Parts: sequence; structure tokens; C-alpha cells
Amino acid sequence: MTAALTRCLSPWGGLNHILEGAETVLIKLNLLSAEPPSAAVTTHPSVVQAVTTMVKDAGAIPILGDSPGGFTTTASFHRLLEVTGIAAVADTCGCEVVCFDTLPVKEYTGKGRTYRKFTIPSLITEVDAVICLPKFKTHQLTGITGAVKLLYGYLPGKAKTEYHLIAGKDLTTFSEFLCDLYATFPPTFSIMDAVEVMEGNGPHHGIPRLLGLLLASPSGPALDLTMASLVGFDVRTLPTLEIAAQRQMGPGTIDEIEILGPRLDDLRVSDFCPPATHRFLSLPTFMTTGAKWLFAARPYFDSARCRRCGLCANHCPANAIRYTSGDLPTISLTHCIRCYCCEELCPAGAVEIKAPLLRRWLR
Ligand code: SF4
Ligand code: SF4
Repeated sequence: MTAALTRCLSPWGGLNHILEGAETVLIKLNLLSAEPPSAAVTTHPSVVQAVTTMVKDAGAIPILGDSPGGFTTTASFHRLLEVTGIAAVADTCGCEVVCFDTLPVKEYTGKGRTYRKFTIPSLITEVDAVICLPKFKTHQLTGITGAVKLLYGYLPGKAKTEYHLIAGKDLTTFSEFLCDLYATFPPTFSIMDAVEVMEGNGPHHGIPRLLGLLLASPSGPALDLTMASLVGFDVRTLPTLEIAAQRQMGPGTIDEIEILGPRLDDLRVSDFCPPATHRFLSLPTFMTTGAKWLFAARPYFDSARCRRCGLCANHCPANAIRYTSGDLPTISLTHCIRCYCCEELCPAGAVEIKAPLLRRWLR
């Protein structure tokens, strides 16, 4: 991994050059949930270890961190670190791992176009540099999750749910929010773990797929667009990247990106499986807001898989799920904002996102 990472970073003069003068470096991971590395849900520990070691070799102090999905306790965070292999990395490298949910927070006013105020842990702005390590996965809400979406994990615990409610009116508004967050807190550099990615219904319950790639760039939008293009996604179905391009935060097409390394044509994946919601992502906004109940994909609960834990109801930002102990949850479609957090956080994979009947007939 270290040799691959060294090759990957060589066009920028290596991490020594990227981190020149930095004494403390936050390494932002994707630690969505307590799943083993083989599930391809979280940043792989081998990538984390290679980057952390390089940061130390560059003379800086690395701090690993994230805010996992849902509400995290000290005990659940420790369990997550054990299961994901990050606890072993921290032991080997002798570095600290922080859960953003337990850190002091501060409100920041940024340069966003639509959203300007963000409450995030002050650590994020106190360190000298931030290296983001996104895991490339499909995402039922945003199409893909990569370097830009990774910053949603800056929002600690409950704030993630609250911002879903504030900005989750439709996908365009949510994508504006993600771009505002990125514009306010641009990381120093991003290194994408695309060694084993996730296809299908990500970001939690999709299918792991070995691609064996590491991608790096100072530009998160460029990194995401390159990866999306490699697996055959049209940028027009990825509103976050479209909006980033409109704001000139990132490239509009793959032709605008200078690729340093192997030819993209030699790496393309022709049979990558998109999320079930992929068609929905390119629907006009009026169909996904005003006529949401007719057209927007919605969650269904699978009675056979459901463990009756009630987690989905506790984390639904719109309070649209009713759960009585021991029963299958039910959903109020009038209140559901189609954020798909229930699907993302369900530990049993018991929430399916499907198109409503009318849309299935219209196909
Ligand atoms: S989170 Fe999943 S397993 Fe738990 S009650 Fe909801 S659907 Fe069932
Ligand atoms: S029911 Fe699921 S998709 Fe609907 S608002 Fe709640 S968490 Fe989001």
C-alpha cells in the first residue's frame, strides 16, 4: 500500500511537500458504521495506516477522526473502531482517534451560496492541515459518495439529522448544501480509497467490488468526477458535481481534468451497478418535491429482515417513522423527506428503497 500511495502522490511532490510546515494533521475518514473492512463501508485500515505513517514521516502529528452515522456513544465508537480495524491502526501508529460527536463545537460563517452557517467541531479549523480519505461508494440519495460528500461527517451526531431536515427538501437543495460545506471547509488534500469500492445500493448495504485503485487530488470535485466517470456515471445524474461545476469549484467534464497516471480508458469499468434510485436522481425537481409521493423512490420495511430495534425511527429527521416495541415500523409518506437515512443506518439491511407504483408503470 505504501508503494502505491507513494506513486499516487509523487506528482504533488509527496505528502512531505503537501504538508510542508504543518504540525497537526486531521485525517478525516469514512466511518459510517461498525462493519468489517471486507464490507467496503468504511475507509480501509490499510489505506489509513499507510497515510498515517506518511504523515508521521513528514514530521506532523496525525489525528484520525469522523462522526459516524446516527448517534454515537463512547462505547459504540470504541466498538466501531475495533470492528473497522481503525483501533489497530491507531495502536500501531500511536495516534489519537476522535469522534467528532464528543468534541467542542463552534458555529462558523462561511462563503456558501445558500448555506453559510455551520456548527462543526472546532478541531477541524484548529489543525494545520486536513487530509480526507473518502471511500468510493454508490449512494442512494446522492448517486455517489466520495470526497465532497465525506465532509457531511464534519457535522456531529444529531446535527447531521437536523441538516437533513433543513437542506433535504430535494436533492438539488441538499447538493447545494454539500457544495457550501465543501467551499467553507476545503480540505488540504483528498486521497480516495477505491481499492475495494461499493456498487449497488450503497452506502451501507451495497455490494463490495475490488477495483484496486487509489486516486489523489487537492480538488475533491475533480477526484469524484474522475471516479464517477471511471465507473460510467453521467455527471448530469450527480447534482453535487453539476452544482460544483456551475460554481467553478470543480470541473464540468472529465476532459477538463489532467490525469497523471495510467490512461483512464485502461481502467474503465463497464458493468458497474448504480443504486436503485439512479433514475430518480435525474428527475426534474418539481417531480421530487411537489409530486414527491407520486414519483420519488420511498423506503419499504422488510418484515423478515427487520430486527425490531427501532433505530430507524430514532434517527428519522422528519419523525416520519412510527415504531412500537416488537412491531414492524410504519412510515408516514406525507412527512417522509426521502433522505434515505433509515436505509443508510439500518443495521439489518431491512429497509429497501423502491420507486412508487406510478413510476414503475411509467417506465
Ligand atoms: S433500523 Fe432496520 S432493523 Fe431496526 S427497526 Fe428499523 S428497519 Fe427494523
Ligand atoms: S422515513 Fe427514512 S427516508 Fe423518510 S424521512 Fe425518515 S429517514 Fe428519511
